[in-house]
Amino acid sequence: MKVAIGLGCSLGPRRRMLELTVQKLGAHPGLRTLAVSRWYRTPPMRGGTALGWFANGVALFDCALSLDDLLATTRALEEASGRRRSRHWGDRTLDLDVLLAAGARREDSSLTVPHPGIAQRSFVLYPLLEVWPDAVDERGLRYADFAEPDMPRPAPIGIMPRPKAR
Ligand code: AMP
Repeated sequence: MKVAIGLGCSLGPRRRMLELTVQKLGAHPGLRTLAVSRWYRTPPMRGGTALGWFANGVALFDCALSLDDLLATTRALEEASGRRRSRHWGDRTLDLDVLLAAGARREDSSLTVPHPGIAQRSFVLYPLLEVWPDAVDERGLRYADFAEPDMPRPAPIGIMPRPKAR
């Protein structure tokens, strides 16, 4: 089953965190990396408490796991990153979302797939379309045909700030 995972980070060396996370996901025996989007630089969401800018992107995997096992895997990576989750939409070292799984639809207390925020969040929609141009929602509608989200289009990251050498 083809699955898309959204990645975000707003603390520390962001791109490195996201690249390491993609490597770790791809090293899981139940996942094989198919494609990784460019990384995008995104201002914090309106209404949230995050102060820092986010690096966001989307990775595509061939997935042999159940959605529950996939969620457990992404949660474990978030925890291992030392993620702080005290605040709604606050700064975080790692945020992983199960965005889309080919042919799968799920809505319960632990998981909503397709992720309901895809079409409204430009930092999710554009990297998703980069790796999965013909992605469709639960009604079979192509995300590429949706209206542009009402937020600025994120810019792909060129050179990221690196931690200063001591
Ligand atoms: P958040 O604070 O946005 O990272 O929310 C994390 C929780 O949202 C997870 O522990 C999941 O149980 C739940 N959740 C619901 N749908 C999804 C999804 N598509 N991907 C990831 N987490 C989800």
